[in-house]
Amino acid sequence: MVQDTVIVVGAGPVGAVTALAAAQAGFRVELVEASAEIDTSPRAATFHPSTLEMLASLGIIDDFIRLGLVARYFDYWDKPARRLVARMDHSILAEETDFPFVVQTEQHKLANLVLSELAALPNATVRMGTRVRALEQDDEGVTVTVEGAAGEETLHGSWLVGADGGRSFVRKALDVEFEGYTWPERFLVLTTLHDFEVTLGCSYRSYFADPGGWTNLFKVAGDDYQGRWRAVFPVPEDESDEEALGDGSVARRLGPLLDGAPDQVVHRNLYRVHQRVAARFRVGRVFLAGDAAHVNNPIGGLGLNCGIHDAMELVESLQQADGANDDVLERYERRRRQLNIEFVQQQTIDNKRRLEETDPEVRAARLDELAAIAADPERMRAFLRRTSLLDSVAKSRATA
Ligand SMILES: Cc1cc2nc3c(=O)[nH]c(=O)nc-3n(C[C@H](O)[C@H](O)[C@H](O)COP(=O)(O)OP(=O)(O)OC[C@H]3O[C@@H](n4cnc5c(N)ncnc54)[C@H](O)[C@@H]3O)c2cc1C
Repeated sequence: MVQDTVIVVGAGPVGAVTALAAAQAGFRVELVEASAEIDTSPRAATFHPSTLEMLASLGIIDDFIRLGLVARYFDYWDKPARRLVARMDHSILAEETDFPFVVQTEQHKLANLVLSELAALPNATVRMGTRVRALEQDDEGVTVTVEGAAGEETLHGSWLVGADGGRSFVRKALDVEFEGYTWPERFLVLTTLHDFEVTLGCSYRSYFADPGGWTNLFKVAGDDYQGRWRAVFPVPEDESDEEALGDGSVARRLGPLLDGAPDQVVHRNLYRVHQRVAARFRVGRVFLAGDAAHVNNPIGGLGLNCGIHDAMELVESLQQADGANDDVLERYERRRRQLNIEFVQQQTIDNKRRLEETDPEVRAARLDELAAIAADPERMRAFLRRTSLLDSVAKSRATA
């Protein structure tokens, strides 16, 4: 019976899933979260088949699906022409996965669902409103100083997982470089009650290519489960935050997609986008997972999915290593770092370029290519295996 303590820093979706997987595997778990409550601002919302399989292995898939919308299709559109270029159908994956669809739901719902599962496990302690302030490790274990409502405390564990987001304290404490770059443009997310399925006939996840400024539309359940759409737009470097978040920007960006209908915007959010991968995913007894280890643009909805895959693989590695096998622990970094570069960084950069392409010939060729993929079942299956990270999971298992 495994009895080591795993300290997990951060109860975002990746930290929460790490904690649940570790607790179910028999580890003693300390989950430490700086905020008093899970952040509910609009962030990741797309959960791919490969990730749904993992949530099923944790026993939470039925509850999770109830929290979201099931999306069989996703679309590519030519925005200036208002033309559907390609509709990809996940049901073509029915022989390969129990979940031939995507679930669209807000990431905080997953984190909260997992926290409610953890509350029932005697070997897991969740400390909300508690920030990790210092970290030390030696051959025997890891010690962290945490600060919460009751003041400072010290926690000891055999292992520590830094799932504390893109600005990770843990990564900085390890002095691990976050290699890569930040895009000059920011991304604007407008959440609206306008129903684009009715007015445009688009799928719950739709990518609109436009040399003058792409748009992504996707539908989530909303906290009232009435459904709402998020529209994402690039904002050029020289546009101020105030301007981008102002009514003029909303009218200019959303207006052309509404055909004069009221915009019904309920939330506006602007954020910086990066492509970065940590130089190390493991230093001694400390591991990085999720955004602490890698960040990418959200086109394709891959970052959080990859983070959840990190969580599952890390717990499996800790179990298999059984405290002693260093090669199995090193394998976590060997696999996860390379897979992130190959599947997530590369695809999200390609996705962005495809949507913003300005050369008319290259643009036409790229859109024609998508149409050809959607028209050929074998090519569409291969395409969806890659975009849903099923290939990434298979490659991970095949990597020694
Ligand atoms: C504004 C924004 C919008 C986004 N939009 C999208 C999107 O549209 N689509 C998409 O695919 N992805 C999006 N992302 C990315 C996606 O949200 C992340 O991939 C996902 O949140 C990663 O989960 P995580 O658990 O690794 O990190 P996070 O969700 O960031 O969770 C990290 C947690 O660690 C906690 N923490 C931090 N420091 C400490 C500390 N010292 N001690 C204790 N706890 C600590 C934080 O409070 C936080 O709860 C967005 C990200 C941001 C920031």
